[in-house]
Amino acid sequence: MPTLVMKFGGTSVANLDRIARAAKRVALEVANGYDVIVIVSAMSGKTNELVGWVNDTSPLYDAREYDAIVSSGENVTAGLMALRLQEMDIPARSWQGWQVPVKTTSAHSSARIEEIPTDNITAKFGEGMRVAVVAGFQGISPEGRITTLGRGGSDTTAVAFAAAFGAERCDIYTDVDGVYTTDPRITSKARKLDKIAFEEMLELASLGAKVLQTRSVELAMRYKVRLRVLSSFEEPSDKAGTLVCDEEEIMEQNAVAGVAYSRDEAKMTLISVADRPGIAAAIFGPLADAGVNVDMIVQNISEEGRTDMTFSCPTDQVLRAEKAVADAMAKGEINYHDLVTDDGVCKVSVVGIGMRSHAGVAAKMFKALQDESINIKVITTSEIKISVLIDRKYLELAVQALHDAFELEKAA
Ligand code: ADP
Ligand code: ASP
Ligand code: MG
Repeated sequence: MPTLVMKFGGTSVANLDRIARAAKRVALEVANGYDVIVIVSAMSGKTNELVGWVNDTSPLYDAREYDAIVSSGENVTAGLMALRLQEMDIPARSWQGWQVPVKTTSAHSSARIEEIPTDNITAKFGEGMRVAVVAGFQGISPEGRITTLGRGGSDTTAVAFAAAFGAERCDIYTDVDGVYTTDPRITSKARKLDKIAFEEMLELASLGAKVLQTRSVELAMRYKVRLRVLSSFEEPSDKAGTLVCDEEEIMEQNAVAGVAYSRDEAKMTLISVADRPGIAAAIFGPLADAGVNVDMIVQNISEEGRTDMTFSCPTDQVLRAEKAVADAMAKGEINYHDLVTDDGVCKVSVVGIGMRSHAGVAAKMFKALQDESINIKVITTSEIKISVLIDRKYLELAVQALHDAFELEKAA
């Protein structure tokens, strides 16, 4: 029988009623003749609560224990979903990541899936099971410890299963009815896109649009998984949602497809470091070793052999970053006068494949921000995106202004 992957995010399994509702959707696809692999997230709010408990117990936690704790939310929903389906007379069974096993790297809290052997679940389908419910977000390391795939990782579990099982489609059910020109929570002018190109979705996701985890889009692109984002609250329909697909499948291309943001960013500046060959490696090596995800980097011009080095990272990694550079200083590997942290910034980005052929996108973006008197602190660009770091208090205003400037309310 053909296989379908259906993933239900936190709000779609937030309580027993919602799990029952999701199970009904699964039942429809079983009736349509599919063997279904259901990937579930933890009930909404659960993972945040677990992360909070970890931080309150140990701010610079051991990531192996973090994974042991935060992966547990998914175990509950997987079992409950299997039970609900059984109550509907649908043969269903739950799997935790290690039981499949979802084999990952040992990069705890941001592990990558390396392999998903299909024999266990395929054998069960062969025995008449119709639905395999798999706890998303989790796997097992080569050392045999539980790992997690980073926040939002159930999307990646879903796409990886779709690739491994050659599923006809991977449907991501969430609390919005598709991918929008920007987060619909920020502006009511946001428009749902019927289709979006893999590359644009990849940029939007990596720049903060949390509707899909970045890695899930990467995998879908690489393994040609038909990926659809749709609402678990709307009536089923063939045309529902947004299809993430190849660029060639999309007729018209605007310069900008969407606006993304990442709210909790910090800007850190090392004041007056020696400007010498190897200084960047001496700073960013220890930061990488400490697990800090450095994003933007700016090095100022130097004066009298000293320079300032600015970088950004997520606010919840500031403590780690401060410790890493202080340790490097104590070891004599680097030398700076001061470390200035601004943890009140955010990143706003515009993304579009059309930028390759449209000139003036950056100028238009900067003008729109200027018109709102928003000061830009750092700028980075790539072929299909422009990002700026600005004060967090202007986030909503900036997103709305850019959405207006690029006339995204006319998109479809
Ligand atoms: P789930 O729990 O189902 O995985 P998430 O909260 O991770 O759901 O992702 C869905 C949310 O992503 C939406 O509620 C929306 O606020 C946010 N979002 C951000 N950018 C976008 C976008 N461009 N299109 C749609 N949703 C977006
Ligand atoms: N529950 C995890 C999280 O909140 C994984 C997911 O929902 O995708 O990040
Ligand atoms: Mg999510």
